[in-house]
Amino acid sequence: MGDPKGFMKIGIKPAGNRPVHERTGDYSEVEQVLNSEDRMLQASRCMDCGIPFCHWGCPVDNLIPEWNDLLYHGDWKGASERLHSTNNFPEFTGRICPAPCEHSCVLNIEKKPVTIRENEVAIVERAFAEGYIKPAPPKERTGKRVAVIGSGPAGMAAADQLNKAGHTVTLFEKDEKIGGLLRYGIPDFKLNKITIDRRLDIMKTEGLEVRTGIHVGKDITGKEIVDSYDAVCMALGAMQPRDLPIEGREMDGIHFAMDFLTQQNRVNAGMYVAYDNRITAEGRRVLVIGGGDTGSDCVGTAIRQGAKSVTQIEIMPKPPKDRASENPWPYYARTLKTSTSHEEGCERMWSLGTLRFIGMQRRVSHAEVEEVKWINDNGRFTMESIPGTSRQLEADLILLAMGFVHPVHEGLLEELEIDLDQKKNVKVDQEMATSCDKVFAAGDAMSGASLVVNAIASGRRAARRIDSFLQKTPSVKI
Ligand SMILES: Cc1cc2nc3c(=O)[nH]c(=O)nc-3n(C[C@H](O)[C@H](O)[C@H](O)COP(=O)(O)OP(=O)(O)OC[C@H]3O[C@@H](n4cnc5c(N)ncnc54)[C@H](O)[C@@H]3O)c2cc1C
Ligand code: SF4
Repeated sequence: MGDPKGFMKIGIKPAGNRPVHERTGDYSEVEQVLNSEDRMLQASRCMDCGIPFCHWGCPVDNLIPEWNDLLYHGDWKGASERLHSTNNFPEFTGRICPAPCEHSCVLNIEKKPVTIRENEVAIVERAFAEGYIKPAPPKERTGKRVAVIGSGPAGMAAADQLNKAGHTVTLFEKDEKIGGLLRYGIPDFKLNKITIDRRLDIMKTEGLEVRTGIHVGKDITGKEIVDSYDAVCMALGAMQPRDLPIEGREMDGIHFAMDFLTQQNRVNAGMYVAYDNRITAEGRRVLVIGGGDTGSDCVGTAIRQGAKSVTQIEIMPKPPKDRASENPWPYYARTLKTSTSHEEGCERMWSLGTLRFIGMQRRVSHAEVEEVKWINDNGRFTMESIPGTSRQLEADLILLAMGFVHPVHEGLLEELEIDLDQKKNVKVDQEMATSCDKVFAAGDAMSGASLVVNAIASGRRAARRIDSFLQKTPSVKI
Protein backbone atom coordinates (compact mmCIF):
# COMPACT_ATOMS: atom_id res chain seq x y z
CA MET A 1 0.00 0.00 0.00
CA GLY A 2 1.58 3.25 -1.19
CA ASP A 3 0.17 5.86 1.15
CA PRO A 4 -1.67 4.54 4.21
CA LYS A 5 -3.46 7.87 4.62
CA GLY A 6 -4.03 8.56 0.92
CA PHE A 7 -7.78 8.07 1.17
CA MET A 8 -7.94 10.64 4.00
CA LYS A 9 -5.77 13.28 2.33
CA ILE A 10 -6.85 13.03 -1.30
CA GLY A 11 -10.42 13.60 -2.43
CA ILE A 12 -12.03 11.75 -5.32
CA LYS A 13 -11.25 13.54 -8.60
CA PRO A 14 -12.84 12.05 -11.72
CA ALA A 15 -11.46 13.16 -15.08
CA GLY A 16 -14.84 14.59 -16.10
CA ASN A 17 -16.37 14.94 -19.54
CA ARG A 18 -16.04 17.34 -22.43
CA PRO A 19 -18.61 20.18 -22.24
CA VAL A 20 -22.01 19.28 -23.69
CA HIS A 21 -22.05 22.06 -26.31
CA GLU A 22 -18.68 20.85 -27.64
CA ARG A 23 -19.15 17.08 -27.58
CA THR A 24 -22.61 16.96 -29.19
CA GLY A 25 -21.03 18.39 -32.35
CA ASP A 26 -18.93 15.29 -32.98
CA TYR A 27 -18.61 11.56 -32.26
CA SER A 28 -15.31 11.70 -30.40
CA GLU A 29 -15.07 10.23 -26.92
CA VAL A 30 -16.91 12.19 -24.26
CA GLU A 31 -14.66 11.34 -21.32
CA GLN A 32 -11.52 13.39 -20.66
CA VAL A 33 -8.15 12.20 -19.38
CA LEU A 34 -6.60 13.22 -16.06
CA ASN A 35 -2.93 14.23 -15.96
CA SER A 36 -0.50 11.54 -14.75
CA GLU A 37 0.26 13.22 -11.43
CA ASP A 38 -3.39 13.47 -10.42
CA ARG A 39 -3.98 9.94 -11.66
CA MET A 40 -1.22 8.59 -9.41
CA LEU A 41 -2.70 10.52 -6.48
CA GLN A 42 -6.08 8.97 -7.23
CA ALA A 43 -4.43 5.54 -7.05
CA SER A 44 -3.01 6.46 -3.63
CA ARG A 45 -6.59 6.56 -2.32
CA CYS A 46 -6.74 2.75 -2.53
CA MET A 47 -6.53 1.35 1.01
CA ASP A 48 -5.28 -2.12 -0.03
CA CYS A 49 -8.12 -3.57 2.02
CA GLY A 50 -7.61 -6.86 3.84
CA ILE A 51 -10.70 -8.06 2.02
CA PRO A 52 -10.69 -6.14 -1.28
CA PHE A 53 -14.39 -6.03 -2.10
CA CYS A 54 -13.51 -4.36 -5.44
CA HIS A 55 -11.90 -7.66 -6.45
CA TRP A 56 -15.01 -9.55 -5.35
CA GLY A 57 -17.12 -7.25 -7.56
CA CYS A 58 -14.93 -7.59 -10.66
CA PRO A 59 -15.99 -10.37 -13.09
CA VAL A 60 -12.44 -10.73 -14.50
CA ASP A 61 -10.87 -10.81 -11.01
CA ASN A 62 -8.72 -7.75 -11.68
CA LEU A 63 -5.95 -7.40 -9.07
CA ILE A 64 -7.09 -3.89 -8.27
CA PRO A 65 -5.19 -3.04 -5.07
CA GLU A 66 -1.98 -4.39 -6.60
CA TRP A 67 -2.04 -2.28 -9.74
CA ASN A 68 -3.28 0.77 -7.86
CA ASP A 69 -0.18 0.50 -5.69
CA LEU A 70 2.10 0.14 -8.73
CA LEU A 71 0.40 3.12 -10.33
CA TYR A 72 0.84 5.23 -7.20
CA HIS A 73 4.55 4.44 -7.27
CA GLY A 74 4.77 5.43 -10.94
CA ASP A 75 5.45 1.89 -12.15
CA TRP A 76 3.14 2.13 -15.17
CA LYS A 77 4.76 -0.88 -16.87
CA GLY A 78 4.31 -3.10 -13.82
CA ALA A 79 0.74 -1.87 -13.39
CA SER A 80 0.00 -2.69 -17.03
CA GLU A 81 1.46 -6.20 -16.70
CA ARG A 82 -0.59 -6.87 -13.56
CA LEU A 83 -3.71 -5.53 -15.31
CA HIS A 84 -3.17 -7.70 -18.38
CA SER A 85 -2.69 -10.81 -16.23
CA THR A 86 -6.47 -10.93 -15.69
CA ASN A 87 -7.94 -8.86 -18.52
CA ASN A 88 -7.04 -9.07 -22.21
CA PHE A 89 -8.61 -5.73 -23.09
CA PRO A 90 -8.47 -3.15 -20.28
CA GLU A 91 -8.75 -0.43 -22.95
CA PHE A 92 -12.37 -1.55 -23.55
CA THR A 93 -13.46 -2.12 -19.95
CA GLY A 94 -11.57 0.99 -18.80
CA ARG A 95 -13.77 3.02 -21.14
CA ILE A 96 -17.21 1.44 -20.99
CA CYS A 97 -17.52 -0.88 -18.01
CA PRO A 98 -20.21 0.12 -15.51
CA ALA A 99 -17.49 -0.75 -12.98
CA PRO A 100 -19.12 -3.13 -10.51
CA CYS A 101 -15.73 -2.93 -8.71
CA GLU A 102 -16.38 0.70 -7.84
CA HIS A 103 -19.83 -0.15 -6.52
CA SER A 104 -18.16 -2.70 -4.21
CA CYS A 105 -15.17 -0.54 -3.24
CA VAL A 106 -15.03 -0.01 0.52
CA LEU A 107 -14.72 3.75 -0.04
CA ASN A 108 -18.06 3.62 -1.82
CA ILE A 109 -19.71 3.23 1.58
CA GLU A 110 -19.04 6.97 1.69
CA LYS A 111 -19.94 7.30 -2.02
CA LYS A 112 -16.36 8.24 -2.89
CA PRO A 113 -14.91 5.06 -4.42
CA VAL A 114 -11.44 4.75 -5.85
CA THR A 115 -11.63 5.78 -9.54
CA ILE A 116 -10.81 2.20 -10.53
CA ARG A 117 -12.13 2.27 -14.09
CA GLU A 118 -10.40 5.53 -14.96
CA ASN A 119 -7.15 4.30 -13.36
CA GLU A 120 -7.41 1.18 -15.51
CA VAL A 121 -7.76 3.04 -18.80
CA ALA A 122 -5.00 5.47 -17.84
CA ILE A 123 -2.61 2.56 -17.19
CA VAL A 124 -3.32 0.80 -20.48
CA GLU A 125 -3.20 3.98 -22.57
CA ARG A 126 0.14 4.97 -21.01
CA ALA A 127 1.42 1.43 -21.63
CA PHE A 128 0.48 1.68 -25.32
CA ALA A 129 2.02 5.16 -25.60
CA GLU A 130 5.28 4.02 -23.99
CA GLY A 131 5.45 0.87 -26.14
CA TYR A 132 5.14 -1.51 -23.18
CA ILE A 133 2.44 -3.51 -24.96
CA LYS A 134 4.22 -5.49 -27.63
CA PRO A 135 3.29 -8.59 -29.62
CA ALA A 136 4.35 -11.69 -27.69
CA PRO A 137 3.80 -14.73 -29.92
CA PRO A 138 3.90 -18.14 -28.21
CA LYS A 139 7.34 -19.79 -28.26
CA GLU A 140 5.94 -23.11 -29.46
CA ARG A 141 2.85 -24.23 -31.34
CA THR A 142 0.86 -27.24 -30.13
CA GLY A 143 -0.30 -28.30 -33.59
CA LYS A 144 -3.95 -28.08 -32.45
CA ARG A 145 -6.36 -25.92 -34.46
CA VAL A 146 -9.25 -23.96 -32.96
CA ALA A 147 -12.03 -22.03 -34.70
CA VAL A 148 -13.61 -19.16 -32.78
CA ILE A 149 -16.87 -18.01 -34.35
CA GLY A 150 -17.86 -14.44 -33.53
CA SER A 151 -15.43 -11.62 -32.81
CA GLY A 152 -17.07 -9.62 -30.01
CA PRO A 153 -15.21 -9.30 -26.71
CA ALA A 154 -15.94 -12.95 -25.79
CA GLY A 155 -14.58 -14.31 -29.09
CA MET A 156 -11.61 -11.93 -29.03
CA ALA A 157 -10.69 -12.94 -25.47
CA ALA A 158 -11.05 -16.67 -26.18
CA ALA A 159 -9.02 -16.37 -29.40
CA ASP A 160 -6.30 -14.33 -27.66
CA GLN A 161 -5.95 -16.78 -24.78
CA LEU A 162 -5.91 -19.86 -27.02
CA ASN A 163 -3.39 -18.30 -29.39
CA LYS A 164 -1.15 -17.37 -26.46
CA ALA A 165 -1.41 -21.00 -25.28
CA GLY A 166 0.18 -22.03 -28.59
CA HIS A 167 -2.86 -23.32 -30.46
CA THR A 168 -3.42 -22.23 -34.04
CA VAL A 169 -6.54 -20.07 -33.92
CA THR A 170 -8.82 -18.77 -36.65
CA LEU A 171 -11.34 -16.09 -35.69
CA PHE A 172 -14.41 -16.09 -37.99
CA GLU A 173 -16.67 -13.03 -38.24
CA LYS A 174 -19.70 -12.45 -40.47
CA ASP A 175 -19.28 -8.65 -40.53
CA GLU A 176 -16.50 -6.94 -42.48
CA LYS A 177 -14.59 -5.95 -39.35
CA ILE A 178 -14.05 -7.58 -35.99
CA GLY A 179 -15.34 -6.33 -32.65
CA GLY A 180 -19.01 -7.37 -32.50
CA LEU A 181 -21.04 -4.91 -30.47
CA LEU A 182 -17.87 -3.04 -29.54
CA ARG A 183 -17.64 -1.94 -33.16
CA TYR A 184 -21.20 -1.94 -34.45
CA GLY A 185 -23.32 -1.29 -31.34
CA ILE A 186 -21.50 0.90 -28.85
CA PRO A 187 -21.22 4.47 -30.18
CA ASP A 188 -17.85 6.01 -30.96
CA PHE A 189 -18.43 8.71 -28.35
CA LYS A 190 -18.13 5.98 -25.70
CA LEU A 191 -15.49 3.78 -27.38
CA ASN A 192 -13.42 4.90 -30.33
CA LYS A 193 -12.77 2.10 -32.78
CA ILE A 194 -9.05 2.74 -33.09
CA THR A 195 -8.76 0.86 -29.80
CA ILE A 196 -10.12 -2.31 -31.45
CA ASP A 197 -7.86 -2.02 -34.53
CA ARG A 198 -4.79 -1.34 -32.38
CA ARG A 199 -5.39 -4.51 -30.33
CA LEU A 200 -6.24 -6.56 -33.40
CA ASP A 201 -2.93 -5.62 -35.05
CA ILE A 202 -1.08 -7.03 -32.03
CA MET A 203 -3.15 -10.23 -32.00
CA LYS A 204 -2.52 -10.76 -35.73
CA THR A 205 1.22 -10.23 -35.30
CA GLU A 206 1.08 -12.88 -32.59
CA GLY A 207 -0.23 -15.33 -35.17
CA LEU A 208 -4.02 -15.09 -34.92
CA GLU A 209 -5.72 -15.72 -38.26
CA VAL A 210 -8.76 -13.49 -38.84
CA ARG A 211 -11.39 -14.27 -41.46
CA THR A 212 -14.04 -11.57 -41.71
CA GLY A 213 -17.09 -11.49 -43.99
CA ILE A 214 -17.74 -15.20 -43.39
CA HIS A 215 -21.14 -16.07 -41.97
CA VAL A 216 -20.70 -19.54 -40.53
CA GLY A 217 -23.84 -21.57 -41.13
CA LYS A 218 -24.43 -19.67 -44.39
CA ASP A 219 -21.19 -19.05 -46.33
CA ILE A 220 -19.65 -22.20 -44.88
CA THR A 221 -21.48 -24.90 -42.93
CA GLY A 222 -20.99 -25.42 -39.24
CA LYS A 223 -20.22 -29.08 -39.96
CA GLU A 224 -17.31 -28.13 -42.22
CA ILE A 225 -15.85 -26.03 -39.41
CA VAL A 226 -16.39 -28.74 -36.77
CA ASP A 227 -14.81 -31.37 -39.03
CA SER A 228 -11.73 -29.28 -39.83
CA TYR A 229 -10.82 -28.02 -36.35
CA ASP A 230 -9.87 -29.73 -33.09
CA ALA A 231 -12.22 -27.51 -31.13
CA VAL A 232 -14.73 -24.74 -31.83
CA CYS A 233 -15.77 -21.82 -29.63
CA MET A 234 -19.08 -20.19 -30.48
CA ALA A 235 -19.19 -16.56 -29.34
CA LEU A 236 -22.14 -15.46 -31.45
CA GLY A 237 -23.62 -12.82 -29.14
CA ALA A 238 -27.32 -12.48 -28.30
CA MET A 239 -28.48 -10.48 -31.29
CA GLN A 240 -32.21 -11.27 -31.47
CA PRO A 241 -33.86 -7.96 -30.46
CA ARG A 242 -37.03 -7.87 -28.33
CA ASP A 243 -39.87 -6.61 -30.53
CA LEU A 244 -43.05 -4.72 -29.65
CA PRO A 245 -45.76 -6.35 -31.79
CA ILE A 246 -48.56 -3.84 -31.20
CA GLU A 247 -50.94 -2.01 -33.56
CA GLY A 248 -49.04 0.17 -36.03
CA ARG A 249 -45.67 -1.60 -35.61
CA GLU A 250 -45.35 -2.00 -39.39
CA MET A 251 -45.34 1.76 -40.07
CA ASP A 252 -42.34 3.65 -41.42
CA GLY A 253 -40.24 5.40 -38.81
CA ILE A 254 -40.12 2.53 -36.28
CA HIS A 255 -36.77 0.76 -36.04
CA PHE A 256 -34.74 -1.49 -33.80
CA ALA A 257 -32.13 0.47 -31.86
CA MET A 258 -29.28 -1.65 -33.23
CA ASP A 259 -30.16 -0.82 -36.86
CA PHE A 260 -29.97 2.87 -35.98
CA LEU A 261 -26.75 2.64 -33.95
CA THR A 262 -24.93 0.35 -36.38
CA GLN A 263 -25.61 2.73 -39.26
CA GLN A 264 -24.07 5.69 -37.45
CA ASN A 265 -20.96 3.71 -36.48
CA ARG A 266 -20.63 2.59 -40.10
CA VAL A 267 -21.00 6.15 -41.39
CA ASN A 268 -18.34 7.35 -38.92
CA ALA A 269 -16.00 4.61 -40.17
CA GLY A 270 -16.63 5.53 -43.82
CA MET A 271 -18.38 2.21 -44.48
CA TYR A 272 -21.20 1.78 -46.95
CA VAL A 273 -24.80 2.47 -45.86
CA ALA A 274 -27.48 2.35 -48.56
CA TYR A 275 -28.99 5.83 -48.91
CA ASP A 276 -32.57 4.50 -49.14
CA ASN A 277 -32.19 2.60 -45.86
CA ARG A 278 -30.60 5.44 -43.93
CA ILE A 279 -32.29 6.02 -40.56
CA THR A 280 -31.68 9.53 -39.32
CA ALA A 281 -32.96 11.53 -36.38
CA GLU A 282 -32.21 14.87 -38.04
CA GLY A 283 -35.14 17.24 -37.50
CA ARG A 284 -37.23 14.43 -35.98
CA ARG A 285 -39.08 14.06 -32.68
CA VAL A 286 -37.43 10.91 -31.43
CA LEU A 287 -39.00 8.48 -28.98
CA VAL A 288 -36.71 5.81 -27.52
CA ILE A 289 -38.59 2.92 -25.96
CA GLY A 290 -36.41 1.23 -23.34
CA GLY A 291 -34.53 2.87 -20.49
CA GLY A 292 -31.28 0.86 -20.54
CA ASP A 293 -27.81 1.41 -21.97
CA THR A 294 -28.84 0.76 -25.56
CA GLY A 295 -31.62 3.34 -25.22
CA SER A 296 -29.18 5.82 -23.73
CA ASP A 297 -26.82 5.28 -26.68
CA CYS A 298 -29.74 6.03 -29.04
CA VAL A 299 -30.35 9.28 -27.14
CA GLY A 300 -26.73 10.46 -27.58
CA THR A 301 -26.67 9.45 -31.23
CA ALA A 302 -30.02 11.13 -32.01
CA ILE A 303 -28.83 14.35 -30.37
CA ARG A 304 -25.64 14.33 -32.46
CA GLN A 305 -27.68 13.76 -35.61
CA GLY A 306 -29.71 16.91 -34.87
CA ALA A 307 -32.99 15.55 -33.49
CA LYS A 308 -35.71 18.11 -32.80
CA SER A 309 -36.48 16.48 -29.45
CA VAL A 310 -35.58 13.22 -27.71
CA THR A 311 -37.78 11.38 -25.20
CA GLN A 312 -36.93 8.09 -23.54
CA ILE A 313 -39.60 5.98 -21.87
CA GLU A 314 -39.26 2.93 -19.63
CA ILE A 315 -41.91 0.48 -18.45
CA MET A 316 -40.21 -0.12 -15.08
CA PRO A 317 -40.55 2.37 -12.23
CA LYS A 318 -38.01 5.14 -11.71
CA PRO A 319 -35.11 3.70 -9.67
CA PRO A 320 -34.36 5.32 -6.29
CA LYS A 321 -31.64 7.96 -5.93
CA ASP A 322 -30.02 6.05 -3.08
CA ARG A 323 -29.64 2.34 -2.43
CA ALA A 324 -32.80 0.62 -1.15
CA SER A 325 -32.46 -1.46 2.03
CA GLU A 326 -32.63 -4.73 0.06
CA ASN A 327 -29.74 -3.54 -2.17
CA PRO A 328 -26.92 -2.74 0.28
CA TRP A 329 -23.22 -2.19 -0.36
CA PRO A 330 -21.17 -4.09 -1.66
CA TYR A 331 -23.74 -5.17 -4.27
CA TYR A 332 -24.11 -3.31 -7.56
CA ALA A 333 -26.29 -0.28 -6.78
CA ARG A 334 -29.65 -0.42 -8.51
CA THR A 335 -30.09 3.33 -8.39
CA LEU A 336 -31.01 5.99 -10.94
CA LYS A 337 -28.23 6.29 -13.54
CA THR A 338 -27.84 9.43 -15.59
CA SER A 339 -25.57 8.81 -18.55
CA THR A 340 -23.58 11.45 -20.40
CA SER A 341 -26.17 11.12 -23.20
CA HIS A 342 -29.01 11.94 -20.82
CA GLU A 343 -27.12 15.06 -19.74
CA GLU A 344 -27.08 16.19 -23.36
CA GLY A 345 -30.81 16.91 -23.44
CA CYS A 346 -33.49 14.28 -23.15
CA GLU A 347 -36.81 13.92 -21.37
CA ARG A 348 -37.10 10.67 -19.42
CA MET A 349 -40.29 9.03 -18.21
CA TRP A 350 -40.86 5.83 -16.23
CA SER A 351 -43.73 3.40 -15.57
CA LEU A 352 -45.11 3.88 -19.08
CA GLY A 353 -46.42 1.05 -21.24
CA THR A 354 -46.89 1.50 -25.00
CA LEU A 355 -50.36 0.64 -26.34
CA ARG A 356 -50.14 1.38 -30.07
CA PHE A 357 -48.42 3.43 -32.75
CA ILE A 358 -50.43 5.98 -34.67
CA GLY A 359 -49.64 7.65 -37.99
CA MET A 360 -50.78 8.75 -41.41
CA GLN A 361 -49.91 7.39 -44.84
CA ARG A 362 -47.86 4.60 -43.33
CA ARG A 363 -45.58 7.01 -41.40
CA VAL A 364 -45.67 7.03 -37.59
CA SER A 365 -46.52 10.32 -35.86
CA HIS A 366 -47.43 9.33 -32.29
CA ALA A 367 -47.18 6.55 -29.73
CA GLU A 368 -50.08 5.98 -27.38
CA VAL A 369 -48.83 5.22 -23.88
CA GLU A 370 -50.40 4.62 -20.50
CA GLU A 371 -49.16 4.64 -16.95
CA VAL A 372 -48.59 1.32 -15.22
CA LYS A 373 -47.96 0.30 -11.63
CA TRP A 374 -45.90 -2.61 -10.34
CA ILE A 375 -47.29 -4.79 -7.56
CA ASN A 376 -44.79 -6.60 -5.34
CA ASP A 377 -46.27 -9.97 -4.44
CA ASN A 378 -43.67 -11.60 -2.17
CA GLY A 379 -40.78 -10.64 -4.44
CA ARG A 380 -42.69 -11.38 -7.68
CA PHE A 381 -43.51 -8.18 -9.52
CA THR A 382 -46.62 -7.96 -11.67
CA MET A 383 -47.66 -5.03 -13.81
CA GLU A 384 -51.10 -3.40 -13.88
CA SER A 385 -52.21 -0.60 -16.14
CA ILE A 386 -53.77 2.47 -14.53
CA PRO A 387 -57.13 3.14 -16.20
CA GLY A 388 -57.71 6.62 -17.63
CA THR A 389 -54.01 7.49 -17.96
CA SER A 390 -53.48 6.89 -21.67
CA ARG A 391 -52.06 9.72 -23.73
CA GLN A 392 -50.28 10.30 -27.01
CA LEU A 393 -46.62 11.26 -27.36
CA GLU A 394 -45.50 12.94 -30.57
CA ALA A 395 -42.84 10.91 -32.35
CA ASP A 396 -41.84 10.56 -35.97
CA LEU A 397 -38.82 8.35 -35.27
CA ILE A 398 -39.32 5.54 -32.76
CA LEU A 399 -36.38 3.40 -31.66
CA LEU A 400 -37.05 0.07 -29.96
CA ALA A 401 -34.36 -0.47 -27.33
CA MET A 402 -35.96 -3.12 -25.14
CA GLY A 403 -33.04 -5.49 -25.01
CA PHE A 404 -32.23 -8.77 -26.69
CA VAL A 405 -34.02 -12.05 -26.12
CA HIS A 406 -31.40 -14.66 -27.08
CA PRO A 407 -28.90 -15.53 -29.85
CA VAL A 408 -30.11 -15.86 -33.40
CA HIS A 409 -31.15 -19.51 -33.83
CA GLU A 410 -31.51 -19.62 -37.61
CA GLY A 411 -28.37 -20.81 -39.37
CA LEU A 412 -25.52 -22.20 -37.31
CA LEU A 413 -27.35 -23.17 -34.08
CA GLU A 414 -30.15 -24.89 -35.97
CA GLU A 415 -27.78 -26.62 -38.38
CA LEU A 416 -25.69 -28.12 -35.57
CA GLU A 417 -28.87 -28.83 -33.52
CA ILE A 418 -27.31 -27.16 -30.49
CA ASP A 419 -29.36 -27.60 -27.29
CA LEU A 420 -30.76 -24.41 -25.80
CA ASP A 421 -31.51 -23.57 -22.17
CA GLN A 422 -34.84 -22.33 -20.77
CA LYS A 423 -34.16 -18.80 -21.97
CA LYS A 424 -33.24 -20.09 -25.45
CA ASN A 425 -29.56 -19.26 -25.02
CA VAL A 426 -26.90 -21.83 -25.93
CA LYS A 427 -26.87 -24.48 -23.20
CA VAL A 428 -23.42 -25.26 -21.79
CA ASP A 429 -22.22 -27.57 -19.02
CA GLN A 430 -19.66 -26.71 -16.34
CA GLU A 431 -16.90 -27.17 -18.91
CA MET A 432 -18.54 -24.55 -21.20
CA ALA A 433 -19.22 -27.40 -23.65
CA THR A 434 -22.38 -27.41 -25.77
CA SER A 435 -24.40 -30.48 -26.74
CA CYS A 436 -22.30 -30.79 -29.93
CA ASP A 437 -19.05 -32.71 -29.59
CA LYS A 438 -15.93 -30.46 -29.31
CA VAL A 439 -18.04 -27.28 -29.59
CA PHE A 440 -17.86 -24.81 -26.69
CA ALA A 441 -19.66 -21.49 -26.18
CA ALA A 442 -18.87 -18.14 -24.53
CA GLY A 443 -20.30 -14.66 -24.00
CA ASP A 444 -23.82 -13.38 -24.54
CA ALA A 445 -24.70 -16.40 -26.71
CA MET A 446 -24.71 -18.58 -23.57
CA SER A 447 -25.44 -16.02 -20.83
CA GLY A 448 -27.96 -13.80 -22.59
CA ALA A 449 -27.26 -10.11 -23.21
CA SER A 450 -24.81 -8.87 -20.59
CA LEU A 451 -21.69 -6.71 -20.32
CA VAL A 452 -18.32 -6.48 -22.07
CA VAL A 453 -16.49 -7.44 -18.87
CA ASN A 454 -18.64 -10.56 -18.48
CA ALA A 455 -18.03 -11.47 -22.13
CA ILE A 456 -14.25 -11.18 -21.63
CA ALA A 457 -14.42 -13.26 -18.43
CA SER A 458 -16.51 -15.88 -20.22
CA GLY A 459 -14.17 -15.99 -23.25
CA ARG A 460 -11.20 -16.55 -20.93
CA ARG A 461 -13.06 -19.30 -19.06
CA ALA A 462 -14.01 -21.06 -22.29
CA ALA A 463 -10.40 -20.83 -23.49
CA ARG A 464 -9.18 -22.57 -20.30
CA ARG A 465 -11.72 -25.38 -20.79
CA ILE A 466 -10.85 -25.75 -24.48
CA ASP A 467 -7.14 -25.84 -23.66
CA SER A 468 -7.70 -28.70 -21.14
CA PHE A 469 -9.90 -30.50 -23.68
CA LEU A 470 -7.23 -30.20 -26.39
CA GLN A 471 -4.55 -31.61 -24.13
CA LYS A 472 -6.60 -34.81 -23.86
CA THR A 473 -7.57 -35.28 -27.52
CA PRO A 474 -5.70 -36.21 -30.73
CA SER A 475 -5.57 -33.62 -33.57
CA VAL A 476 -7.97 -33.80 -36.51
CA LYS A 477 -6.48 -34.91 -39.83
CA ILE A 478 -7.01 -32.32 -42.58
C1 LIG B 1 -25.96 -0.54 -27.97
C2 LIG B 1 -25.25 -1.33 -26.94
C3 LIG B 1 -24.47 -0.67 -26.00
C4 LIG B 1 -23.79 -1.40 -25.03
N1 LIG B 1 -23.03 -0.70 -24.14
C5 LIG B 1 -22.32 -1.40 -23.22
C6 LIG B 1 -21.48 -0.71 -22.31
O1 LIG B 1 -21.41 0.52 -22.30
N2 LIG B 1 -20.75 -1.44 -21.42
C7 LIG B 1 -20.81 -2.80 -21.40
O2 LIG B 1 -20.11 -3.43 -20.60
N3 LIG B 1 -21.61 -3.49 -22.25
C8 LIG B 1 -22.37 -2.82 -23.16
N4 LIG B 1 -23.18 -3.49 -24.02
C9 LIG B 1 -23.21 -4.98 -23.97
C10 LIG B 1 -21.97 -5.59 -24.65
O3 LIG B 1 -21.70 -4.93 -25.86
C11 LIG B 1 -22.19 -7.09 -24.90
O4 LIG B 1 -22.54 -7.71 -23.67
C12 LIG B 1 -20.92 -7.74 -25.44
O5 LIG B 1 -20.49 -7.13 -26.64
C13 LIG B 1 -21.16 -9.24 -25.71
O6 LIG B 1 -20.02 -9.79 -26.28
P1 LIG B 1 -20.06 -11.12 -27.15
O7 LIG B 1 -18.68 -11.32 -27.64
O8 LIG B 1 -20.70 -12.22 -26.39
O9 LIG B 1 -21.04 -10.83 -28.36
P2 LIG B 1 -21.11 -9.65 -29.52
O10 LIG B 1 -20.35 -8.48 -29.07
O11 LIG B 1 -22.54 -9.54 -29.76
O12 LIG B 1 -20.34 -10.34 -30.71
C14 LIG B 1 -20.84 -11.47 -31.38
C15 LIG B 1 -20.20 -11.52 -32.77
O13 LIG B 1 -20.51 -12.77 -33.38
C16 LIG B 1 -20.73 -12.54 -34.78
N5 LIG B 1 -21.49 -13.66 -35.29
C17 LIG B 1 -22.71 -14.08 -34.88
N6 LIG B 1 -23.08 -15.19 -35.58
C18 LIG B 1 -22.07 -15.46 -36.45
C19 LIG B 1 -21.88 -16.48 -37.43
N7 LIG B 1 -22.80 -17.44 -37.62
N8 LIG B 1 -20.73 -16.47 -38.16
C20 LIG B 1 -19.78 -15.51 -37.94
N9 LIG B 1 -19.93 -14.52 -37.01
C21 LIG B 1 -21.05 -14.50 -36.27
C22 LIG B 1 -21.48 -11.22 -34.78
O14 LIG B 1 -21.45 -10.60 -36.05
C23 LIG B 1 -20.71 -10.44 -33.72
O15 LIG B 1 -19.61 -9.77 -34.29
C24 LIG B 1 -23.90 -2.80 -24.99
C25 LIG B 1 -24.70 -3.47 -25.92
C26 LIG B 1 -25.38 -2.74 -26.88
C27 LIG B 1 -26.25 -3.45 -27.86
S1 SF4 C 1 -12.13 -1.95 -2.07
FE1 SF4 C 1 -11.48 0.08 -2.85
S2 SF4 C 1 -10.03 0.80 -1.31
FE2 SF4 C 1 -10.26 -1.40 -0.94
S3 SF4 C 1 -8.61 -2.40 -2.13
FE3 SF4 C 1 -10.39 -2.26 -3.49
S4 SF4 C 1 -10.12 -0.31 -4.63
FE4 SF4 C 1 -8.77 -0.27 -2.85
